[in-house]
Amino acid sequence: MDRNNNDVLVIGGGIVGMAAAYFLAKAGATVTVIERDSVGSHASGFAYGGLSQLSGAGIPGPVYELAREGMRLHSEFGRLLPQETGVVTEYRERPTLSLSFTEDEASEARKTLAWQQAQEGFKVRWVDGDAAREIEPRVSSEVMGAVYTEGSAEVEPYKFLLALTQLAEKEGVHVRNANVTGLKRSGGRVVGVSTVSGEMPCSSVVVAMGPWSGEASSWLGLGIEIRPLKGQILRLRAPGAEIACSVGWAGNYANTKLDGLLWAGTTEEEAGFDENPTTPARDRIMASLLKMLPSLADAELVQHTACLRPLSADGLPILGAVPGLEGAFVATGAGRKGILLGPAMGRATAELVLSGKTDIPIAEFAPDRF
Ligand SMILES: Cc1cc2nc3c(=O)[nH]c(=O)nc-3n(C[C@H](O)[C@H](O)[C@H](O)COP(=O)(O)OP(=O)(O)OC[C@H]3O[C@@H](n4cnc5c(N)ncnc54)[C@H](O)[C@@H]3O)c2cc1C
Repeated sequence: MDRNNNDVLVIGGGIVGMAAAYFLAKAGATVTVIERDSVGSHASGFAYGGLSQLSGAGIPGPVYELAREGMRLHSEFGRLLPQETGVVTEYRERPTLSLSFTEDEASEARKTLAWQQAQEGFKVRWVDGDAAREIEPRVSSEVMGAVYTEGSAEVEPYKFLLALTQLAEKEGVHVRNANVTGLKRSGGRVVGVSTVSGEMPCSSVVVAMGPWSGEASSWLGLGIEIRPLKGQILRLRAPGAEIACSVGWAGNYANTKLDGLLWAGTTEEEAGFDENPTTPARDRIMASLLKMLPSLADAELVQHTACLRPLSADGLPILGAVPGLEGAFVATGAGRKGILLGPAMGRATAELVLSGKTDIPIAEFAPDRF
């Protein structure tokens, strides 16, 4: 078998796996993505698609550079994907308005304001309640202030992944439908994977199985501390003009996307691997939406989705080579930010596979840190 690391199997056809496959193939590797359901059929196809490097787990902190690179790559893909594939990924710059209803919420928001204002490429300012309602007139009269951020962006995650898959295929990536059940090893290195329909040889393997990556712990001889964090989103037909920006509060958000629908979310639920939409979650999301934008009570439900974020035990990504098992790599744990981080995690992973190093700082994401 070829031992030049160029024969790579990527397990998982979510945004992380597909991005890794694309960058690997672009650099000359022979790559197959193995997906047991269909590409983008889980969180990577049903996320909200908000893109901002200025907040989230590990920001400011160890995730910042990865997020910044994710933002840069999304801006590149925003041009490249429609041009190369004809798929309109609905990438666009989209300001965000993060609401505060109480003094406590306002002082919490102000803690990172100066740091956010110092970041290149963004315009961030505190606005009072009246100024927030000038930006979006339907914002609740109870809002006392908000952080208004210009420079954030958004994408339609499923269309993004569809386009990325097409571009990856143009670079020579094969996508194969199979359920991976184990790894084949020889002399301390990976030499293949086992699937329910047979074995596939490889020189390197990338485990990008999202919240299911823990299943690979026994294959790798390494505890991958990851669990699913369920989140749900409503797509609504709302009366009146579109919402002027992405409005957020306490982890919830609402925004008219380019499909003309108002997308509203979300929940954080410890529900195991259950991906079914539920009525209590729908009611909670509607309640948060009406707290932010009370005049939308007549919005009509068009679609209700649920999916699972891959959340690591410390909230940081898990990204890197598996010590003691040559040719094995893990890329998961993007939590609430995988659409943003996915392309950067993919690029870092491809570089690690092919050259053993990457210029993206990933030391704190080591798979064996738990
Ligand atoms: C409600 C919600 C809203 C979100 N909004 C945003 C947002 O606005 N911005 C943002 O940046 N992020 C957002 N996210 C987070 C983002 O969706 C995830 O972090 C990201 O999609 C994770 O991608 P992934 O490739 O790691 O995992 P997944 O998308 O879960 O992909 C993993 C794939 O691996 C496959 N697989 C698993 N096991 C096997 C096996 N044994 N064999 C073969 N295939 C296998 C699965 O079928 C799956 O397709 C949101 C998430 C949720 C739930």
